[in-house]
Amino acid sequence: MPDFRFDPRPCPECGHHPTRWQRCTSIDCQNGRYDVSEKDPVLYPSTGPVWRTCDRCKGAGHEHWCPECGADLTHRDDLKPAHPQM
Ligand SMILES: [Zn+2]
Ligand SMILES: [Zn+2]
Repeated sequence: MPDFRFDPRPCPECGHHPTRWQRCTSIDCQNGRYDVSEKDPVLYPSTGPVWRTCDRCKGAGHEHWCPECGADLTHRDDLKPAHPQM
């Protein structure tokens, strides 16, 4: 379900605000990574989780973008730390 939050911080590219923030929408993503042994128990039949970095959010666990210019803000260091309340 599309369920984003507004982030009051402006876009560093175009100055538009609020920007938008949501948890990673990949269904397997758990805080930026996923367990391949759950996705493919045939290839990984043995012990415990095998973690891989999530392809969608590249390990961030969330997505953050500008609705105005489309900039991907997920990995901007200046915007990374603070997350809006979910
Ligand atoms: Zn993810
Ligand atoms: Zn922008």
